[in-house]
Amino acid sequence: MNKSEPLRKTESKYAAAPLSRNDIAYNALQLRKLVGLEDIVNFDIVRFIENILPELHPNFLFEIAESYKLRGKYAETIPSYHDGPAIIRVREDVYVNAASGDPRSRFTLTHELGHLLFHTPKHMKLCRLETNLPAYMDPEWQANTFAGEFLVMRHLACGMSPFEIADKFNVSYSVAEIQAKYCK
Ligand SMILES: [Zn+2]
Repeated sequence: MNKSEPLRKTESKYAAAPLSRNDIAYNALQLRKLVGLEDIVNFDIVRFIENILPELHPNFLFEIAESYKLRGKYAETIPSYHDGPAIIRVREDVYVNAASGDPRSRFTLTHELGHLLFHTPKHMKLCRLETNLPAYMDPEWQANTFAGEFLVMRHLACGMSPFEIADKFNVSYSVAEIQAKYCK
């Protein structure tokens, strides 16, 4: 992933409403500000999704599922249809690992939060792709980008090396390398 965010292959059969990395970073900051947690470096994403999000989103369910129920997925997000609840469902081991600070599992949960925020039915189009989907319309790119921007706030990470970012924000080195390139 580089600054030009090129066209690339995606598994998605859905196109999302376009969002640039800066749009996503803005939304990530606004959500942090909404709960007064914009200056937290090692962000507790498990506590946020489990305890804070249900207060913000009255129609939200967080479910921890046994692995056979998720068939090869770490987690999934089901948007709200016809006033039903929006659900983030996470595999038990991913939940346990995220709660004990595993960077990859923390990222997975934050990725799902990105889907929950951006990928409501209103903002999604089912499509048969003729060409590669541009990154800024790929829901998976958007959710990954959200996870990086939400966990690594730009105003806190500015000037840090990838190594420092990985260490302080508790993200993987590959995420830290990407975030080190984006500063206010
Ligand atoms: Zn995803």
